[in-house]
Amino acid sequence: MSQVSDSSSWGNAPRAEARSDLPFIPLAVPSITDREIAKVTDAVKSGFVSSVGPYVEEFENTFAELVGAKHAVACSSGTAAIHLAFAVLDVPRGAEIAVPDFTFVGSSNPIAYVGAKPWLIDSESETWCLDQDRLIEALEDRKRRGDALPAVIEPVHILGQPARIDRLIEFCRSNGIAVVEDAAESLGATWSDGAFAGRHTGTVGTIGAFSFNGNKLATAGGGGMLVTDDAELAKRAKHLSTQAKVPDIGYLHDEVGYNYRLTNIAAALGLAQIERLDELKARRAHVAARYEAAFADTDIVTQPRIEGFDATYWLYSVLVPKGAGAEYRDALWKHLGAQQIGSRPLWRPLHLQPPWQASDRLGGEVAEDIFTRGLSLPCSFDLTDADQDRVIEAVLEFDSAASA
Ligand SMILES: *Cc1c(COP(=O)(O)O)cnc(C)c1O
Repeated sequence: MSQVSDSSSWGNAPRAEARSDLPFIPLAVPSITDREIAKVTDAVKSGFVSSVGPYVEEFENTFAELVGAKHAVACSSGTAAIHLAFAVLDVPRGAEIAVPDFTFVGSSNPIAYVGAKPWLIDSESETWCLDQDRLIEALEDRKRRGDALPAVIEPVHILGQPARIDRLIEFCRSNGIAVVEDAAESLGATWSDGAFAGRHTGTVGTIGAFSFNGNKLATAGGGGMLVTDDAELAKRAKHLSTQAKVPDIGYLHDEVGYNYRLTNIAAALGLAQIERLDELKARRAHVAARYEAAFADTDIVTQPRIEGFDATYWLYSVLVPKGAGAEYRDALWKHLGAQQIGSRPLWRPLHLQPPWQASDRLGGEVAEDIFTRGLSLPCSFDLTDADQDRVIEAVLEFDSAASA
């Protein structure tokens, strides 16, 4: 087992030599206030604890309005929302779905669930997200040769950074390719300039998928949301998520469905969290700005900040110095662990994962570089400036020792 797979959402690190005199600073834990407790208590007391109940619908409606989508369907996870997206698009078995090489497996597992083939696309260094220029060039090449195009393109807004997909969406529109945006990490992220100015990530493709997993910006304990402007797709997604049970007729199921419903208790928690979204975002922006300032004059590379892209800095991550590589990254990870600080390497690219290593791919060098050098640092809502200073000092101390 590698250290990466040993990591917990608290942001672990082998802590054998950890100092016990310091309180532990977790990587990313949720912020639960009286507002969340009141709504969850109400859901439990109402007796509607399962997947029927008023909070599910209220969560869906509030969410749709928040991100500016016509329809929202609550699901049991972000992965389920992505799976439902492919299912309602009727992606045929054997079809191809383009997905970034550098992403969490929640993006790629649903491709396998529908029997499709992933095409792994490298990232661009500027956004860490899928490289649209490289992809479009390859797609144009295929068109010239008369080769088939993918059935779906699945951009991912990595770590709350809106992907650069303006030209890609245009290409997909004019070539009949569906776009499923994996916005699991980018709730609240928007574009403020260009083709999508004023729009939320997850709402510019055919379907968008969000996650309310425990470590995401807003949590429902676990959950997801599918959004679309297409009423038919939304209706079918809801239907498939509820075992394809035909309403008002005794146990008639007109196709193979899934039990992907969100519970009313989870919806109550998710609703309370998205009502606090501005506050949750503002805190991440504060933490991001402090890390940026602290590492500005060092060789540590901070998360992208690009004009016109309003990122949410979910799971704040840095890249260790160019050329330093995985050994440096792992040593820093251990150093932070010993200081009772939770941190975690970024995702191993899909082309290095056993289920996906034989997949077709376009590049992969940038994805490998981000993986090799990437480390996520503490960024919980409740992280105090003093605790963040402890993290910063520990990183700087290690970096100056390493470069001495
Ligand atoms: C978290 C995540 C998912 C899956 O969400 P779950 O709710 O955990 O199933 C999918 N894609 C990406 C990029 C994620 O970070």
